[in-house]
Amino acid sequence: MNRISEEYAASLDREDALARFREEFYIRPETIYLDGNSLGLMSKRAERSMHELIDSWKESGIGGWTEGKHPWYFMAERLGEMSAPLIGAEPDEVIMTGSTTANLHQLLATFYRPEGKRTKILADELNFPSDLYAIKSQIELRGMDPDAHLIKVRSRDGNTLEEKDIIAAMTDEVAVAILPGVLYRSGQILDMGRLTAAAHERGILIGFDLCHSIGALPHSLDVWDTDFAFWCTYKHLNGGPGATGGLFVNRRHFGKKPGLAGWFGSDKEKQFDMEHDMTPAGEAGAYQVGTPNIFSSAPLLGSLEMFTEAGIGNIREKSLRLTDYLIELIEEELPQSGFSISTPLDHGRRGGHVYLEHDEAARICRALKEEGVIPDFRAPKGIRLAPVALYNSFDHVRQAVVILKGIMEDGRYKKFDNQRDVIA
Ligand SMILES: *Cc1c(COP(=O)(O)O)cnc(C)c1O
Repeated sequence: MNRISEEYAASLDREDALARFREEFYIRPETIYLDGNSLGLMSKRAERSMHELIDSWKESGIGGWTEGKHPWYFMAERLGEMSAPLIGAEPDEVIMTGSTTANLHQLLATFYRPEGKRTKILADELNFPSDLYAIKSQIELRGMDPDAHLIKVRSRDGNTLEEKDIIAAMTDEVAVAILPGVLYRSGQILDMGRLTAAAHERGILIGFDLCHSIGALPHSLDVWDTDFAFWCTYKHLNGGPGATGGLFVNRRHFGKKPGLAGWFGSDKEKQFDMEHDMTPAGEAGAYQVGTPNIFSSAPLLGSLEMFTEAGIGNIREKSLRLTDYLIELIEEELPQSGFSISTPLDHGRRGGHVYLEHDEAARICRALKEEGVIPDFRAPKGIRLAPVALYNSFDHVRQAVVILKGIMEDGRYKKFDNQRDVIA
């Protein structure tokens, strides 16, 4: 059967064991949403849990901290417990707090202890800018020159990293390594287990940014023995704009004094004693700072429930089948259109999205949007397409490629400027 046919896509959708989750999301019928790695869609369960939290304020006032279905005082821990299976951690190693960048600041403030010759932070030149800004400011806060103390591993091809290059850069001058689990542009998965082992052999602490991997693929942070990790929850976890982020601290490090202290990092029994010397919590909760953003955490109660039900193993399996299908169709239907697929094809190295490059990417994205396909443009020439296991179908993938093919065949993208919008 022709793979771009409706019948073929329908046959793939019939075999899809996760198809029932699609109707739990708000999907506009006239759009094909392929941007879940930038902002995941809203689900009915997330909406429900937001309403429950609004009602708890309405009905309980201050009592909401300890009463009702979701007592606010324990929500960060509860969400940590719900997230732990997604990253292969124990419940008390995970806390939902802050944002990616704020959590990276906290973790560096805690774990980055330049000493003697070991003063440098190892990252990579393909890292997300915000992570690099945080790293540089942490170096500066210690009175050192960021240009001399930040090592950025080079990419050989501009899109991917070689683990052996990263390991070669792990010298005895490196104190901490900060690397992505999945690269935000190309979608390459780094071998987090191998990198953790290599870092530890060399006396280096290692932490991963899981923004593009959490919710898309399983992790084994405890098995790998990774020191710490941090992430946002508005991408694959569908927590909504600005949803509360998360962090993981390996239990080996429990008791390590938080670099940025605040009363919500206290031992919960002691917090309201109001003493001037803090008694930090004995687990990951110690790395919270101030009062949790309850309403930004609320959607996660509903959203994470779906991950528990679906199972991250099943999500990963479907995600790979979706990206396989997308790659096959692009190769078959758009062979001479100037696209190159810059995501690794090997399943072991491919995250939850596909990264295409094209010289006219900005205006192709505009044309796609006009025709109802929502991609994600990354300057200067990248198009990220994320078919998401919980709410995209194989037919969405098929329709997106049909539309893309039409746009390329008659050149209708040329009526747009080849420039990005404010948010890209
Ligand atoms: C999305 C993303 C961020 C965003 O950080 P926020 O603090 O949530 O704004 C940071 N790093 C990476 C790798 C990301 O993908």
